[in-house]
Amino acid sequence: MKLYPLFADLRDRPVLVVGGGAVAERKAAMLVEAGARVTVGAPALSNGLQAWVAAGRIAHRPGTFEPEWLDDAWLVVAATDDAALHGRIAELAAARRIFVNVVDDAERSSFQVPAVIDRAPITIAISSGGDAPMFARLLRERLETLLDHSLGTLAMLAARLRRRIRLRHPQPAARRGFYEQLFSGRVAGLVRGGRVAEAQAEAERMLAAGDDAVDGSVVLVGAGPGDPGLLTLRALRALNEADVILHDRLVSAGVLALARRDAERIEVAKEAGHHHTTQEGIHALMLEHARAGRRVVRLKGGDPFVFGRGGEELEFLRSHGIAYEVVPGITAAVACAAYAGIPLTHRDHAQSVRLLTAHCKASHDTLDWPALARERQTLAVYMGVSQLPAFQQRLIDHGRAPTTPFALVENGSRPDQRVVTGTLGDLARRAAEHAVASPALLIVGEVASLARSLAWFGASPLGTGLVSRPAHPDRTADADRLLAAIHHA
Ligand code: SAH
Repeated sequence: MKLYPLFADLRDRPVLVVGGGAVAERKAAMLVEAGARVTVGAPALSNGLQAWVAAGRIAHRPGTFEPEWLDDAWLVVAATDDAALHGRIAELAAARRIFVNVVDDAERSSFQVPAVIDRAPITIAISSGGDAPMFARLLRERLETLLDHSLGTLAMLAARLRRRIRLRHPQPAARRGFYEQLFSGRVAGLVRGGRVAEAQAEAERMLAAGDDAVDGSVVLVGAGPGDPGLLTLRALRALNEADVILHDRLVSAGVLALARRDAERIEVAKEAGHHHTTQEGIHALMLEHARAGRRVVRLKGGDPFVFGRGGEELEFLRSHGIAYEVVPGITAAVACAAYAGIPLTHRDHAQSVRLLTAHCKASHDTLDWPALARERQTLAVYMGVSQLPAFQQRLIDHGRAPTTPFALVENGSRPDQRVVTGTLGDLARRAAEHAVASPALLIVGEVASLARSLAWFGASPLGTGLVSRPAHPDRTADADRLLAAIHHA
């Protein structure tokens, strides 16, 4: 080990920062956060440092460095751009046995400041011993994404129970099992859900019951439209912790690839024409796995609460006493619009947007067509392509102009995304002409015409009179090669 890791208690201890610029400001900020009594010595201070002096958060020693500035310091940070001065500070500090950090100079430093992940009271510090600071920073970013911000609260809750846990489980193995339960089970879920009092009560119940039977849970996760980059951090964490993943067919392979390797993956397709799992079948699977103590992720395309039957699944879980959480996802309307360059609202063209699904069969049709046909609003329609002719007809029959622009986004956000544009009167014909297939999202409204000028992702929109050529013919192939390389690594 090149450096000895240590966490210093600096509360109310004097620390000197030499330098008054942006770097000094960053160093001072972290020290102030740790409760140190910071003095910044420099002829002039940055605006930020001046404000802290005015607010009494730090002290200022004006002028150039003098050895007696070190007199009461426990630590010193040299953050000027004067290398000779840094050398002097380092020598003087060493002579007085004061630890010194010289910014960007590991050789002259007797202590270094690690890359930090702060989930107080949990602090994770990463050091490369000065050899590869960039690597340490990258590692920090990676860990930041993995650790939920509720971790600190959970640690405090565990701290409160620590003595009783020790009494209850004197054997380290049993104690460890209990903590594992605490950190990944129902208690952790309640803390993430902002229900700290209930989490505490649940932890107490577990303690009293001597309960080490693992309880399962279900996280309803929105997988977004396909591009794995559109997952939320919460979704990623849930995928990392899952024992079982029940996913819809719509969920992309790229998203599934991010899940824990040994998680069991079960496809539960509901679409007609594919192997079929009824909604009741999905309920039964969730129940079976959760009751067996597994962490179940129910992974749905887009957002679980937008045409995803997420509500029904929660009702079922609630009625069976299974703990659950919900992680929203980017719904197809939002994603397809963004990836096609279509703002869903626009000061000049649309003041409202409606998300709807249209069956158009008389028996199912409860939509308010006259309201849908009004101008200056955007319709984002989730539906199968076979419904398009009936949808077009209804909307025109109820008064929406046949000249209203539309954009049909197929495989939105995926490498094979296609956008077909045109006007409402021509919708079904254009869709057939380009053999648009599911999944496809229809956007109707004045804003749809902006796709022609604002498109940025994938192939250019297929508009009437435009030459339909991909903007980047090699992009798909490139992306595939890149993905293959990443998977290989
Ligand atoms: N819960 C999902 C919607 C499920 S309904 C969400 O929030 O997005 C399924 C319909 O969503 C499809 O018929 C299609 O209209 C739309 N859809 C989902 N993903 C899509 C994608 N990547 N591109 C285009 N449309 C998509």
